[in-house]
Amino acid sequence: MVTMSYQAWFQCINQQCRASYPLNSIVYRCKTCGSLLEVQHDLHALAGRNAKAWMKLFEERYKSTEWPYGSGVWGKKEWILPQIDNNNIVSLYEGGTNLFWAERFGRMLGLKDLWIKLCGNSHSGSFKDLGMTVLVSQVKQMISEGAPIKAVACASTGDTSAALAVYCAAAGIQSIVLLPKGKISVAQLVQPIANGALVLSLDTDFDGCMRIVQEITRDETIYLANSMNSLRIEGQKTVGIEIVQQFDWETPDVIIIPGGNLGNVSALGSGLLMMRDLGLITNLPRIVVAQAERANPLYRSYLKNFETFEPIEAQKTLANAIQIGNPVSIEKAIRTLKQFNGIVEQATEQELADAAALGDTTGMLICPHTGVALAALIKLLRDGKINKSERVVVISTAHGLKFTDFKVRYHEEKLDFPCRFANKPIELPPRVDAVKEALQQALQKRRETNV
Ligand SMILES: *Cc1c(COP(=O)(O)O)cnc(C)c1O
Ligand SMILES: [Zn+2]
Repeated sequence: MVTMSYQAWFQCINQQCRASYPLNSIVYRCKTCGSLLEVQHDLHALAGRNAKAWMKLFEERYKSTEWPYGSGVWGKKEWILPQIDNNNIVSLYEGGTNLFWAERFGRMLGLKDLWIKLCGNSHSGSFKDLGMTVLVSQVKQMISEGAPIKAVACASTGDTSAALAVYCAAAGIQSIVLLPKGKISVAQLVQPIANGALVLSLDTDFDGCMRIVQEITRDETIYLANSMNSLRIEGQKTVGIEIVQQFDWETPDVIIIPGGNLGNVSALGSGLLMMRDLGLITNLPRIVVAQAERANPLYRSYLKNFETFEPIEAQKTLANAIQIGNPVSIEKAIRTLKQFNGIVEQATEQELADAAALGDTTGMLICPHTGVALAALIKLLRDGKINKSERVVVISTAHGLKFTDFKVRYHEEKLDFPCRFANKPIELPPRVDAVKEALQQALQKRRETNV
């Protein structure tokens, strides 16, 4: 294998600075100017293999049993962490998720070519696995080289902590998670607890937890796992590459992604740009970021052409994983949106909940964040900003089963707005005549509403 000749390192995103650091140094922000870092690759070395050969290699490895290359992330190892020793890779076979043709849902909206990338069909139930496999693998490598890391910590709106806890558990490394008390779902809370994380429940919001975790990880024995750590972005960037691969190396017209801390949109852009730079694709899709109206600092900035950005205090939203008012990756996200002719759209609580419920009636199980993305799609089609002939991909960020409380409350009509697609169980005595009678009425009603 020629992997050892490829190189990657951390580089400051500030164009005036561009300081660089080796990937095994404990650094999350530039030590010179304080900006975020990103992983840079030696593109010249990577270009030594031509585009066709990369595609062939990625296809050969895709979902194979050759460990670790069957993983959607590690199948692209040379583009992710070329220098890591395979013995230090902590993989749970992440990636390779279903690109679902949303035929019925698309038809309801007049779209022929709508696809949902089901990133929640993954070990911990969200796309966070894609990034966490990279971060925890790098930590394992650093520990094997003698780094004094005793634990890995993150602040989380739920899914990051679930992913961190399970990858650390698989590797035998202690994880620490800081969660905003009472603001995450039961399924999200139970995952880090079950996987042996040290769970700290703080009476604050995500932004409050984020401030504290940045302080406690100044101690180099506790490594920081939030997405300001750009190792996570390296894994998450495979989502765009994988979508293009699943379309036989054709770029879709539009990709819609829900955004909170905005690491994932930066990752999506970064993977696609790398494909373009190495000649695997020639054109780029438009990227749409969808935000909850109650946590919409990026949307507000978009309305001002990104000339200014003001953090806000995020309000409580059903889309709890994106209830973030001061996104860490704001600069990277704005840069991405400028490169991809980007759009930002927002959704109200009712819009996101109805969009998720409508999606479910067509054979999906949509989490509230993906509900935000579907609602954004509906609005952009209505406003003519997305054309009905375009190929659109919506990135579904988590599995709906992580958010059963949201779905139960919707279908029981216990949310503080009308739930248009509520589907309540019919309670009946256990008698055949009663069941027949109820069925007749209910099926008649459904026929009427379907015309
Ligand atoms: C983390 C997360 C997001 C937001 O991703 P960012 O990188 O913070 O923008 C969206 N949906 C789900 C389900 C998540 O877990
Ligand atoms: Zn710098």
